[in-house]
Amino acid sequence: MSMDILGLGTPGVRGLQPYIPGKPVEELERELGITNAIKLASNENPLGPSPRALEAARAALPDIARYPDGGGFGLKRALAAKLDLEPEQFTLGNGSNDVLEFLARAFVQPGDEVVFAQHAFAVYPIVTQAVSGRAVEVAARDWGHDLDAMQRAIGERTRLVFIANPNNPTGTWLKRAALQAFLDAVPSRVIVAIDEAYFEYVNERDYPDTLAWLARYPNLVITRTFSKIYGLAGLRIGYGVSSTAIADVLNRVRQPFNVNSLALAAAMAALDDTAHLEKSRRMNTEGMVQLEEGFRQLGLPYIPSVGNFVCVEVGDAARVYDALLRQGVIVRPVANYGMPRHLRITVGLPEENERFLNSLEKILKGK
Ligand code: PMP
Repeated sequence: MSMDILGLGTPGVRGLQPYIPGKPVEELERELGITNAIKLASNENPLGPSPRALEAARAALPDIARYPDGGGFGLKRALAAKLDLEPEQFTLGNGSNDVLEFLARAFVQPGDEVVFAQHAFAVYPIVTQAVSGRAVEVAARDWGHDLDAMQRAIGERTRLVFIANPNNPTGTWLKRAALQAFLDAVPSRVIVAIDEAYFEYVNERDYPDTLAWLARYPNLVITRTFSKIYGLAGLRIGYGVSSTAIADVLNRVRQPFNVNSLALAAAMAALDDTAHLEKSRRMNTEGMVQLEEGFRQLGLPYIPSVGNFVCVEVGDAARVYDALLRQGVIVRPVANYGMPRHLRITVGLPEENERFLNSLEKILKGK
């Protein structure tokens, strides 16, 4: 007897498209019988984490029989000192994805609306639908968020707005004045989450210092992560920062030990290593130039990005993706983001960027 298990899922879950992660290097190497695959698919730091973070994680290993500090006392205090805020304003997550999920679980009831942009990070619709919220996707403008249209999309039932700055996968970003005008226009009963997973990579003068706005907007939440420039994606740790009132609500839905002890130790040590951060930033800036020059030489349009990744238009992206895989190069298809002609490339080490560009050239020229 067959049983419609999916039909037992909640209405939101039934329509949910699961997140598609980048293909793991080990999987491709197994499939092709090779050992030198490269992965430029998940916006990870090609330099890896700070050696200090690794050392701190190692030092914490003997204690893993014990539960972690569920309050994240040390890390919250370190973050508060660094960012000139109070520890009570932080919510620690198992990756910043965890915090995005807290937002939906804490503020969105079935039928409530959550507003975000077309081509924005795929986790926003997932966390929305998981609680049977209604996803309101607002058409993008020049691949970026159209804040005026997003403002118009806010109605009686809107509880939450997600804004990615910069956005993944497009790499587009919003300026200080535009974002502040948006916050001024949004009713304070609507929570605005600004996702800054890639803010450390941005070198733009008009990029907003959103932390300075926290005192003014009690409905503002900023999410950040140790997965990207800090190179700790595998440990899963990120955070939200907000008014203490919002942090109190988010911490109510958080599992008591959502962040593990190795991640807490590594993140604290990583925060202090500004030299590693600078090195990672510099390497990314140079790698981005390398990729952009390569695209120009191949006559390929790309979307200018301020993150550690860039979307390039290659035509039949599914075909080019497969051909790159066969050469041991993993990039990210973005058809699920409504971008079937683009591929997203994470900036890698100089030699990885070069290998990718060479493979791409061969494929496009049919060599
Ligand atoms: N926000 C954006 C825009 C991202 O691209 C990502 C990672 N893909 C995340 C949040 C979540 O990352 P993590 O859960 O590893 O912090």
